[in-house]
Amino acid sequence: MSLIKTTNLTLSYENMTVIKDLNFEVSPGDYLCIVGENGSGKSTLVKALLGLKKPVGGLIEFGDGLQQNEIGYLPQQTNAQRDFPASVYEVVISGCLNSRGIRPFYSAQERGIAAENMERLGISELKKRSYRELSGGQQQRVLLARALCATRKILLLDEPVTGLDPMVTVEFYGLISQINHDGVTVIMVTHDMSAAVKYASHILCMREDDCFFGSTEEFLKSDSSNFLKGGDKGV
Ligand code: ADP
Repeated sequence: MSLIKTTNLTLSYENMTVIKDLNFEVSPGDYLCIVGENGSGKSTLVKALLGLKKPVGGLIEFGDGLQQNEIGYLPQQTNAQRDFPASVYEVVISGCLNSRGIRPFYSAQERGIAAENMERLGISELKKRSYRELSGGQQQRVLLARALCATRKILLLDEPVTGLDPMVTVEFYGLISQINHDGVTVIMVTHDMSAAVKYASHILCMREDDCFFGSTEEFLKSDSSNFLKGGDKGV
């Protein structure tokens, strides 16, 4: 059974259609990379998956017991967010907010989940540090721990390695692969084609005329992979 399935999904702003009749599905354990040029609708699709943008046509269905508010989301970082004045612990545990409802305090269980995810990402020692003082790579680990507090099932990552240096980027991909091997489904928007074909099980390539969705193997055999600059498929 799919976790997420779209059928003829159509998204638009005012009268401008950005995505038309898009069909793809994500099954438990998949690692889907969403690639495509700027303006091809990747962020708009992310908003729709999170329920922040209503389709004008078609459907997004959630299966296998997944609720829309159980998607662990790691947003694209802006400079303002990099300067966020809170401790590492506060940022991580805020991932539990979706499930907290109207209770004013975090429960012992939520504090336990935050501690578990900080441990998992090797940031327990940074717990009391100010988020804004951390390196880019440390900040991404904090945001990943936060996203994991919101889910045990599926992560949605929007260009998570932008601005990270090459060593830290490789480390970050390693973390994501480990989390995926541990059973968390991954959807990642990325510009990094060579990483997409290296790590992903499936590719959704957004193009104005014709989107591709399929396994990474199928993608590499398809015309859509010519989209890779200079024919370098990065493998
Ligand atoms: P990508 O993430 O692939 O760069 P976007 O989803 O941001 O693409 O944008 C797809 C199209 O939708 C672009 O033409 C963009 O100008 C337009 N668009 C994005 N956000 C808005 C908005 N809030 N209002 C109107 N048009 C928008």
